[in-house]
Amino acid sequence: MEHRIAMLQTLHTIIQEVNSARGLGHALNIIVKRVAETTRVDVCSVYLVDQDAQQYVLMATKGLNPDSVGRVRLGFDEGLVGLVGERKEPLNLEDAEAHPRYRYFPETGEEKFHSFLGAPIIHFRRLLGVLVVQQAERRRFGEEEVAFIVTMAAQLSGAIAHGEASGGPQNGLAGLVPASGSRTMTGVPGAPGVAMGRAMVAYSPADLFAVPDRQVDDIEREVEVFHRAREAVKAEVRDLAARLADAVPTDEHEIFDVYLRMLDSESFVTGTVNRIREGNWASGALRDSIAQYVSVFDEMEDPYLRERAEDIRDIGRRVLMRLKLDTGDTREVPAGTVLVGEEITASQLAEIPTDRLAGVVTARGSGNSHVAILARALNVPAVMGVGELPVSRLEGKEIIVDGYAGRIYIEPNRQVRREYRRLLREDAELSERLQALKGQLAETPCGFRMGLYANTGLMSDITSSLSSGCDGIGLHRTEFPFMTRERFPGEDEQTLVYRQVLEPFMPRHVVLRTLDVGGDKPLPYFPVREENPFLGWRGIRLTLDHPEIFLTQLRAMLRANAGCGNLRVMLPMISRLSEVEEARSLLFRARDELEEEGIEIEMPELGVMLEVPSAIYMADQLAERTDFLSVGSNDLTQYLLAVDRNNARVADLYDELHPAVLNAIRQAVEAARRHDKPISVCGAMAGDPAAAILLLGMGISGLSMSVSSLLKVKWVIRSFTCDHAGDLLSRACAMDDPRAIRAMVNEALEDAGLGGLVRAGK
Ligand code: PEP
Ligand code: MG
Repeated sequence: MEHRIAMLQTLHTIIQEVNSARGLGHALNIIVKRVAETTRVDVCSVYLVDQDAQQYVLMATKGLNPDSVGRVRLGFDEGLVGLVGERKEPLNLEDAEAHPRYRYFPETGEEKFHSFLGAPIIHFRRLLGVLVVQQAERRRFGEEEVAFIVTMAAQLSGAIAHGEASGGPQNGLAGLVPASGSRTMTGVPGAPGVAMGRAMVAYSPADLFAVPDRQVDDIEREVEVFHRAREAVKAEVRDLAARLADAVPTDEHEIFDVYLRMLDSESFVTGTVNRIREGNWASGALRDSIAQYVSVFDEMEDPYLRERAEDIRDIGRRVLMRLKLDTGDTREVPAGTVLVGEEITASQLAEIPTDRLAGVVTARGSGNSHVAILARALNVPAVMGVGELPVSRLEGKEIIVDGYAGRIYIEPNRQVRREYRRLLREDAELSERLQALKGQLAETPCGFRMGLYANTGLMSDITSSLSSGCDGIGLHRTEFPFMTRERFPGEDEQTLVYRQVLEPFMPRHVVLRTLDVGGDKPLPYFPVREENPFLGWRGIRLTLDHPEIFLTQLRAMLRANAGCGNLRVMLPMISRLSEVEEARSLLFRARDELEEEGIEIEMPELGVMLEVPSAIYMADQLAERTDFLSVGSNDLTQYLLAVDRNNARVADLYDELHPAVLNAIRQAVEAARRHDKPISVCGAMAGDPAAAILLLGMGISGLSMSVSSLLKVKWVIRSFTCDHAGDLLSRACAMDDPRAIRAMVNEALEDAGLGGLVRAGK
């Protein structure tokens, strides 16, 4: 038992150490050394896959001849390493040479080692390599040891994938990373289009380890900035200490002295200054100093001392905050900026002038995160969920964003660059061609008129929607003014905002959705901590529990509609009928109050979003009791498939063309038809050309989407008859793989000459 706990603890420290290693080479050396020590074996080695050469390469070893690193290479079907990779399971052999797959490499000196244990290193189903331990003594490895090696390999796969993605000269292991540093990485499509530009890293001051590297010219100034920040934090700590002097026992108080000593310590100060002198800016140098300290403390056996790593991080964050305050983010935003980050918030995106923003790339999130929705609204190509994105090394790097394929190219080579320039030109030609559709009707060749509406939320959306020739606004997300303020906006403020949306669109209708916060749209001034926010207090649930907030919004909507008359009110996250009834009675109350105040009110139509599976099963009752339905396919997909719309790990499983989603929407359309009520789709699906055909096939009456998709979808509608779309839908519903469905519909688009809508190029 004790041994097991020791192994677990070691596992933890090795992983922490590896995660703070700079570069893949360093990380691998830590792995082999520490695994060999812990398991007390003679040899530990890591072999990694070299896709280009279709081989395994010995990348690091403790115990074999160090000169064989980088030299020993095996084909995928060669040797015991190849066998582990093929079987994707551990291989435990008492006598390796006796195995028919054994292959001997004289340069390693491995003939002395008889027993062999290998485990595959797999990251998201992708085989990255094999972790091997060997021993001179002939024996089978015990269950504990096998379990340890398997766990180690599984845990390390992320770190290795990340190190591999970081590439660059730090790893010092020639052969695996192309010399140009060019890399292709895959995420998921966030917003369509192609962009070529330079990366700018977005990070929050709380996230020290996301600080990017940045070259500086004025080294002395940077050193001074660092010292100023350090002094400011010292003053801050002294101040804290003084304030708590009476309240905190003396022992506890010593922590402040530790902070002060650390801030003055020779190794911290000189280490950071040296890093600045090597050319990095103060924040980047600070990040590395803190990482080094943290890894030392993390490694300590004494749990109390290990805890101190958190104090070190705290000091790091404080100094970083000061550095940010002192220098501000003085980065100029050049034209062609590709904003990259672990995560990017709506406000970070909003800080970049739209005419300079070329693309967006994030490590987390998925195609339906709200940042992706914003990117689509701004017509900026975006790739989300690039899990292994080496964010801190990307500042200023050239980057190509392919928002159709969900792929990025870092420091692309000449060929890739040339190809994407051509695709960009073709995309521009395609856009011109689409412009010609502006004045034309969204009518199928068989004469069916589809309602095409815009999704809005920002003021800039309103302007672009107005000139797009859409039939109105099918979804106005009212959250943004709530998210960008420091408090709930008042009734007058809201009235003004809503009027700015309603008035210019008269007499076309405008659907204002009531507040849909919670989930991935928290309000900074109204923090809600929940284990499962998407299954928690969001949308209508929150507003019904806070009638004062809800009534203010409803009153503002009704007041804004006075004299306009084109308002429709839509309720998000409806999962039961009583929510509609309660919301309706609040709407009546708002009307009565306003009328009592002498304002004449025209009652708007009231509709609901179908975005929770229970609402689909109650579509008949909902259609009967409301004026219109709108499918929120983003959330509906998330809840039907049980796939978090923001989780990059499962982004591959998130697909609106899943037959279950198609069948659910079809059922809702039929229910709406039975009650003669209009039904539209306002999730991202409506703006996806392939999905739009299937929705047309269902007989949906309206599609509401980001303005940037409007003309594309109009082209689709004008190119497919309802019968043709119906046939494609029947075929899709009989299939079971969303990817195959997409391929089938994309082929139909290609056949109709519309392939340029779903891939780069014409
Ligand atoms: C949806 O869920 O499809 C939707 C339109 O709402 P939101 O994306 O704002 O959650
Ligand atoms: Mg939703």
